[in-house]
Formats: sequence, C-alpha cells, structure tokens
Amino acid sequence: MGLTLTILGCDGTYAGPGGACSGYLLRSATTSVWIDAGSGTLSALQRHVALADLDAVIVTHVHPDHCLELPVLRNALRFGVGIEGLRVVSTAEVRDLVDQITGGAAPTFGWEVATSGDSLDIGDLHCSFARTDHPVETLAVRVGHGGRSLVYTSDTGPRFTLAGLVLDGGGVDLVLCEATLAAEREGDAPHLSGRQAGTMAAAAGARRLVLTHLAPGSDPVARQAEAATTYDGPITVAIAGDTHEI
Ligand SMILES: [Zn+2]
Ligand SMILES: [Zn+2]
Repeated sequence: MGLTLTILGCDGTYAGPGGACSGYLLRSATTSVWIDAGSGTLSALQRHVALADLDAVIVTHVHPDHCLELPVLRNALRFGVGIEGLRVVSTAEVRDLVDQITGGAAPTFGWEVATSGDSLDIGDLHCSFARTDHPVETLAVRVGHGGRSLVYTSDTGPRFTLAGLVLDGGGVDLVLCEATLAAEREGDAPHLSGRQAGTMAAAAGARRLVLTHLAPGSDPVARQAEAATTYDGPITVAIAGDTHEI
C-alpha cells in the first residue's frame, strides 16, 4: 500500500445536511494520521481506523470547522478508550483553545506545536508546514512517503504560494486545495475560488487537484469548471467517504 487519502468531511465553514466539516485520513501501510478535526469527522474517522490505531492528529488552525472534534477526541481517549500520549500537532492557538475547553488535554494528548518551516516525521510519513494567507495562524501541510507526496492547503487566500512546500522542484502528486468561493465572490473572504485554486495547483506542478472546503449549497460542477480554466490536469471535487490513492 502506498499513500491513501480518505475524505472524512469537506464542507467549508459549517456542515450541510448529513455532512461534516474538514477532516482527512492519510494512511500508509503502517501509519495513520488524521488531518483536521472538523465537526462530524470523529464519527467518520472510526469507519476507517480504530482510535487506538491512530498515530497522530494534525490540526491546521483554530477555526471551529477544523478543530472542534479535538476536545471530543480527548474525552473519548480519556474516558472511553483509555489512551495517553497521542501525538497532536497543531498551532499554539489550537492547543490553548483545547486546553481551555478540557481543563488541560495532557497527558491524553502529547502536544507538539508546529509553526511555518517546521518538519517532522510521523511513522513513515514526512510532514512539513507553511503558513497560509488566512486571518489566524494557519498551516498548509505537505506529506511525503516513498517518493509520493500530497499538499493540503488548509484555508487560505490567494497571497499564499505552495513554493515553500515543493522544495525539490519535483512537483506534487496531489494538491488538496480549498475552493470555498464562487467566482463572483473572489476577494470577499480570505479563501480561494475554483479559478484561484487552479492557479495555485498549476504553479506548484500538481499532477492532480482535489477541490475541497466548498460551502454548503455550492455547485461542485461549476467550481470544477472554474478550476479547469487555470489548471489543465485532472480535477475532482472532494466527496466525504471517497478514498484517493496517491
Ligand atoms: Zn475552514
Ligand atoms: Zn479557516
């Protein structure tokens, strides 16, 4: 098994009916990492991996649609599953919020605060981080494994570039890029349109583009068509439950 990406939830800002906010499971044969813990994704996660088999959680920023399952996970591990020391990698703001909600997440979580430019290994996955263009400290993540790679933009406006995460010039196999905004709303919020997501993926040498974080009620076909005006590789729109081989 190489590297697989499973979409646990992909709704932007809030979950639509039956949906979930941002959450992704990245797995190699021996390592499972949950990236972003948006509302609704803890339930979806457990369809694919037992909580006891999770190697780490990465949370990219403190906005509620990306982090609010973390305090629930802490209580699940502390009062249900009985696990201590799960690696949680996040910004300092996420750690502080979860500590405030739970009264202190240690020792259930073994917290590691990450900032832009950091790199670390989780099992056989190599992870590196770069700050995006978003109102709170937000980290895009690159994960490499066995010569394959994925970049997840998290939330960002158009002033961010993936160049810092594609250091070897070899491109990236899959870019999971937010595309929150309809074309006519470009610039209204610190997010990307489909067109801007395509531009970002093309500049990074992405071999595939998966659009995510669409607001409930968005038209995925239109968003995909907008991205195709600036990016000529394969484009799909994230659907909860789908798994992508990388
Ligand atoms: Zn978001
Ligand atoms: Zn955000």
